[in-house]
Amino acid sequence: MKKILVTGGAGFIGSNLCERLLDENCSVICLDNLFTGKIENIQHLLSNPNFEFVEHDVVDPFSAKVDEIYNLACPASPPHYQFDPIKTFKTSVLGVLNMLELAQSCGARILQASTSEVYGDPKVHPQKETYWGNVNINGIRSCYDEGKRAAETLMCDFHRQNKIDIKIIRIFNTYGPRMDENDGRVVSNFIVQALKGEDITVYGDGTQTRSFCFVDDLIEGMIRMMNSENFTGPVNLGNDSERTINEFAQNILKITGSNSKIVYRPLPSDDPTQRRPDLTLAAEKLNWRPKTSLHDGLLKTIDYFKLKIKG
Ligand code: NAD
Ligand code: UDP
Repeated sequence: MKKILVTGGAGFIGSNLCERLLDENCSVICLDNLFTGKIENIQHLLSNPNFEFVEHDVVDPFSAKVDEIYNLACPASPPHYQFDPIKTFKTSVLGVLNMLELAQSCGARILQASTSEVYGDPKVHPQKETYWGNVNINGIRSCYDEGKRAAETLMCDFHRQNKIDIKIIRIFNTYGPRMDENDGRVVSNFIVQALKGEDITVYGDGTQTRSFCFVDDLIEGMIRMMNSENFTGPVNLGNDSERTINEFAQNILKITGSNSKIVYRPLPSDDPTQRRPDLTLAAEKLNWRPKTSLHDGLLKTIDYFKLKIKG
């Protein structure tokens, strides 16, 4: 039985990943400091003898004997990663360093959850992995963007210098059940606002674009990447169906049948104007493409939030 460490395992993507790995008969250690993650996300897994939760901060070294490490620990929503930007940077950089040293000590393969944010406010569209990005070094998003870029650098240097078996994925905006209702990201904000009949808050003029991927599709891509041979990445994982934030707000209003009004709020600084993954490499190397339409993914996510809001 494969023994797998998932850092950030009590978060949105991490808890979905732990569940899938247990379904595949792996033994899972879920490590999390519960900053944005919640025990509630993994409550249903705690009685599984193949599952262990460890409350731990990745900024501090960790030792275990595992075959694979998925390094996801890091707040992902702008309000959360901007809450304590110094801690966010440490989490990305010291976190991956500790996990690489752990991989080295036990000969494990390690996958790093990088992000489309490494492309910053991209001047090349759609974004291919060969694009080096357009990132502000000093802005309010830099703690996250530059932390993730530095983490990729460390992964590649440990691979070249110490022959560590690495995998890098660049995740584009992902949504689905177990997103935190107060997370501050656009998908959770708009759904919760629509369900509660509150105003839908579009930041800026709503012409900026994003491409939203359903979490089950992402998890499939992550596992294929971990199991791939002779390929370190980086590889983009996401959905290439792009829409403006205005269109997205209309989608949510239509699917929820809500009468909420759309209101416009100031655009946060350095908010990327466009984002869409080029998925050619993922198709070629992993034989992977996202399968879930935005409509079907949103129906599942809306059902989840309906239950949460009811309590
Ligand atoms: P999330 O906030 O739900 O999960 C992050 C998890 O990491 C939480 O459980 C949190 O408590 C934990 N964590 C944070 N700092 C930690 C620390 N110092 N030590 C231990 N645990 C810590 O966010 P998510 O959307 O599930 O994101 C998971 C990973 O995927 C992150 O690395 C994020 O950067 C990456 N990612 C996500 C998206 C997305 O759209 N969701 C896009 C790009 C990249
Ligand atoms: N956004 C918005 N209203 C909200 C939350 C976010 O219009 O209530 C916008 C945000 O400015 C950005 C896009 O939606 O342009 C996606 O934001 P999110 O925080 O989900 O992800 P990211 O900016 O990291 O891609």
